[in-house]
Amino acid sequence: MKMPATVRVGGLDYTIKPWNRMAADNTGAYGMCDRSTLVILIQEGLTPQWEAHVLVHEVLHAAYAAAGMTAIHEHVSEERLVGALSYQLIQVWRDNPDLVAYIEAVFRPAKGKLKA
Ligand SMILES: [Zn+2]
Repeated sequence: MKMPATVRVGGLDYTIKPWNRMAADNTGAYGMCDRSTLVILIQEGLTPQWEAHVLVHEVLHAAYAAAGMTAIHEHVSEERLVGALSYQLIQVWRDNPDLVAYIEAVFRPAKGKLKA
């Protein structure tokens, strides 16, 4: 299953784009969340589970920003972080059925077969 083309986080629509492997390798990351351009980059050529994991990781970076947090909040308490991300995660879940379906298809591929 293909990744969704966009994801709404904190009321902002991020575009999900493939990331050239060489460009990604130069940063040492599999994904990137650019909050200034609302683009999430995912390295090309990953396995489906890695690809989905990296997408969730980048969505959580967007959610972190949507919760009003930045790098200066590096030493935020666990309770503050979980509290902020839980609200954002619920919003992401509610507003992105394509994302939820994609994650389900990647991590529970047998589900559809059982119904057939
Ligand atoms: Zn990260």
